[in-house]
Amino acid sequence: MFTKILIANRGEIAVRIMKTARRLGIRTVAVYSEADADALHVESADEAVCIGPAPAAHSYLRGEVILEVARRTGAQAIHPGYGFLAENADFAAACEAAGLVFIGPPAGAIRVMGSKSESKRVMERAGVPLVPGYHGEAQDEATLRREAGRIGYPVLIKASAGGGGKGMRVVREAVGLDEALAGARRESKAAFGDDRLLIERYLAKPRHVEVQVFADRHGHCIHLHDRDCSLQRRHQKIIEEAPAPGLTGELRERMGRAAVAAAQAVNYVGAGTVEFLYEAGEFFFIEMNTRLQVEHPVTEAITGYDLVEWQLRIAGGEPLPARQEQVPRRGHAFEARLYAEDVPKGFLPAIGRVTHLRPPREDAHVRIDSGVRTGDEITVHYDPMIAKLIVWDADRGSALRRLATVLEDYGIAGVTTNLAFLASVARHPAFVRVEIDTGFIERERAGLAMSVPALQSWQLALSAIALLHARPREPGAPLPTPDTPPGPWDTLDGWRMNGEQLLPLRFDIDGQTHSARLHFASGGALEVELVGDARVKVAGIRMSDDGAITAEIDGERVAAQLVRNGGEWTLLARRHRWSFAPDDPLARAAHQDGGSGHLVAPMPGAIIAVLVKESDLVERDQPLIVLEAMKMEHTIRAPVAGRVAKLFFTAGQQASESDELVVIEPLSETRP
Ligand code: ADP
Repeated sequence: MFTKILIANRGEIAVRIMKTARRLGIRTVAVYSEADADALHVESADEAVCIGPAPAAHSYLRGEVILEVARRTGAQAIHPGYGFLAENADFAAACEAAGLVFIGPPAGAIRVMGSKSESKRVMERAGVPLVPGYHGEAQDEATLRREAGRIGYPVLIKASAGGGGKGMRVVREAVGLDEALAGARRESKAAFGDDRLLIERYLAKPRHVEVQVFADRHGHCIHLHDRDCSLQRRHQKIIEEAPAPGLTGELRERMGRAAVAAAQAVNYVGAGTVEFLYEAGEFFFIEMNTRLQVEHPVTEAITGYDLVEWQLRIAGGEPLPARQEQVPRRGHAFEARLYAEDVPKGFLPAIGRVTHLRPPREDAHVRIDSGVRTGDEITVHYDPMIAKLIVWDADRGSALRRLATVLEDYGIAGVTTNLAFLASVARHPAFVRVEIDTGFIERERAGLAMSVPALQSWQLALSAIALLHARPREPGAPLPTPDTPPGPWDTLDGWRMNGEQLLPLRFDIDGQTHSARLHFASGGALEVELVGDARVKVAGIRMSDDGAITAEIDGERVAAQLVRNGGEWTLLARRHRWSFAPDDPLARAAHQDGGSGHLVAPMPGAIIAVLVKESDLVERDQPLIVLEAMKMEHTIRAPVAGRVAKLFFTAGQQASESDELVVIEPLSETRP
């Protein structure tokens, strides 16, 4: 076994690999970019070496530099995690050439499986069932158009070198083919440096079912059961489970055998995942991921195995530690991926500082894998995943209930997350009934909580109390409570002193201003009057310096946490979370200025295409600009029909968040 390994990755997966290494008494070397100098994975390693500036191309993707670090630090093997260099055959080969063990499959297997087209040809020969499609070498328009017609619409275009849903386009009818091919080529070229495409029949309601396989260097290969990863948005998984529910034992066995055959066809070694689409009792190979998957913890939960330990042992030359019939399958597990993203804005990645993080406690049922701590920043440079929540229970129903409560109890503030959305997915009756397929999220969107629900009066009252208590005070002055009402420094706010003291407060939530009047009665009672709404009785307020607040609101005890991040304040209480800001009339005026035709960059990114010219007439929803941010393409569309009045960027330029991109003059205002 190795005594020291290098982990060529960051975030939760680097931290997770280090945990197993530490348990096995193996020393770890972390590599990090300048942006990650204070990251958890750096802190978790025995040694850490900076390998360059923030962009992955200048740090985590520099194989040469990483090899040099391994040599210098005396690491014997490199674990690539997932993403970055994990499926880079050249890097795997370079490791071996440098006398280092690549903790993964041989370069040849990565190469074959790295091409969706090539892998399909090999699978066809190995007798593994495929989705009907075209995966040939010829890439001219005429061939692709003819093949799409032969397969029959709707079709799915994929990047041959693809992964992570990038370069994928559904085309419902022949007219949309050209635009989709161009977009897929562009995205594929940018992401993989290769613009070859393949076309498949687009299955109507498939489930994504995959099989975890493991092979050793002694010719043995087994599978560790299946997972269902049908809950996806933008063709990317967000909730996974093991085992895949509702499959017959016979089908499950056939699928497991096909997965093992797929791995053996490429002389596989180590951990891999064979992905299938499953529809109406049939399954079809789509691809093999030649690495450890993000969702491997659900398999660990039902088998009791540590898959990273298996990887390390196999890379060290040991045989598989179990035979097929010995692999346990106990209970049911779910994983949910907590992302910094804005769900109502089409799951747009979000950035910002995590100012407050209080995950639920881990125990025999709950596991949390994360590379993010309080105060860490989610940047544009890397994947915006904050944590993975894994729950296990004796059966699917219990595990799913547990998942929902764990999500609801997760305390996080500072960045916009998909937490409320995940929780509402976990509570969705159709998900509970296993009525799932890869279109589930798109179809059920309307019924899922996209963001925090409308605020209730206790929440508004709590916001007012938080503002009152956290406002600047004279040094040493007590917190104002019903017993010690606000002091004279507040007189500017317009007190009345006739037995009852009154304090007006204003604050903004989601661009809307709320007004409240706090009534301090002489008997020590406090009431919050929500102007134009209810009056709420408040008693027993306590607030500590770290922002913990307790109060009795209308006779019910509420424990809340206030998190302040510059001008934005967030409250977390009773599984609700909402952000508000003290009213600032200047900021309000600036906001109202932005007319509907002014389009700004939703996040920092590179302008990769400008599809219109100044003074062009555009339809509503017409694509105007393609922005690439966080490795994804975002199309900026016309919000109204009109004329392009001004373009601020050309292709190739970099836009910062909130930069104005284009001005559209609405049609009604356009003069001939
Ligand atoms: P990637 O490697 O980019 O993740 P995959 O080939 O693994 O791409 O597919 C990702 C997801 O896209 C699948 O889980 C499924 O939801 C959807 N998908 C892929 N192929 C098809 C298809 N032929 N028909 C319908 N959906 C598909």
